[in-house]
Amino acid sequence: MILIVAEHSNGKLARVTREMVSCARALGREGGIAILVLGKGVAAAANEAAQLAEQVLVADSDDLAAHDPELWAAAVAQIAKEGESHAVLVGAGRGGRAWSPRVAVKLDAPLLEDVTALRYEDGGYVATRFTYLSRVTETVWADAPVIVASVKPGALAPAEALSEHGEQFDVELELPARRVEVTGRTTEKLSRVSLAEAEIVVSGGRGVGTAEGFTSLVEGLADKLGAAVGATRAVVDAGWRPYAEQVGQTGKTVQPKLYIAVGISGAVQHLSGMSKSRTIVAINKDGEAPIFKLADYGVVGDVQQVVPALISQLAEKPGQ
Ligand SMILES: Cc1cc2nc3c(=O)[nH]c(=O)nc-3n(C[C@H](O)[C@H](O)[C@H](O)COP(=O)(O)OP(=O)(O)OC[C@H]3O[C@@H](n4cnc5c(N)ncnc54)[C@H](O)[C@@H]3O)c2cc1C
Repeated sequence: MILIVAEHSNGKLARVTREMVSCARALGREGGIAILVLGKGVAAAANEAAQLAEQVLVADSDDLAAHDPELWAAAVAQIAKEGESHAVLVGAGRGGRAWSPRVAVKLDAPLLEDVTALRYEDGGYVATRFTYLSRVTETVWADAPVIVASVKPGALAPAEALSEHGEQFDVELELPARRVEVTGRTTEKLSRVSLAEAEIVVSGGRGVGTAEGFTSLVEGLADKLGAAVGATRAVVDAGWRPYAEQVGQTGKTVQPKLYIAVGISGAVQHLSGMSKSRTIVAINKDGEAPIFKLADYGVVGDVQQVVPALISQLAEKPGQ
């Protein structure tokens, strides 16, 4: 059995869960696919998961409400052992990164991290992943009765629903005592569309001039396109935008259909977070800016003129 640990929030599966299903289907191994849905109040996410796999294993418990790595790792390892899984797939987001190494240790399994593709060949698993700021694609191989792989969000196409819904089963877990309590939580105000899930991302750099410039130009354009907002580290360090919006090596990795870089130079650390976007548009007044080497379309011009012109063009289009 291939065990997929669902990522979900507010009753909805995260896109990476569907991407992991694509990955599992492509492996084509015997034993089927099961999706494990852990958390508190997960009925809606479990129903959605049943559209994607023949088996959905559900553990709905107060203990799993917070993403406590010790508890999540114990739960996943227990289910993987009971189901004699030969592969455990988790999303390589912050949560998955925290607990997947623990699962690997509990299962005595090799851990393939941040994979962008996975196949089963000649009795072993072959995975690819990016390294050196996404400039190098590495191929790694593992041969073991069970492997744990964390799947990079945005690397694979999301799976289509099955024609017949899978069956749901409640599972009983033997969890260790909780040793860490979440004592408070504040939510950072994010752009209206999540960066990881967005099909269009408009990102701004120091070239927008000021925090106010960022709001009017980058947010203004994003609003017109129904896009998520991203930022460079220079902008985040200047305090113009929250860290949650930072794209790049030390921020988020995004792979939208359209990435619009507004006043961004194209430092390698920024490119490593967005270079796999399908179409890249850059607006920069310096025709020699490195971003133009990567961009599919470039506008050499002042963002203060180009972006308002774009916004007003979009405003004239009905439905935009
Ligand atoms: C360890 C490490 C990790 C890092 N991680 C990240 C990361 O995750 N993400 C990230 O983004 N950076 C990261 N950086 C920083 C990175 O090296 C760059 O400093 C940063 O990306 C530059 O941001 P920028 O493009 O906004 O600014 P700049 O490099 O200053 O570029 C501004 C651009 O705006 C253009 N411009 C200026 N005025 C206008 C105008 N009026 N109209 C049009 N264009 C204009 C300029 O020509 C210039 O190209 C990291 C650095 C290090 C050392």
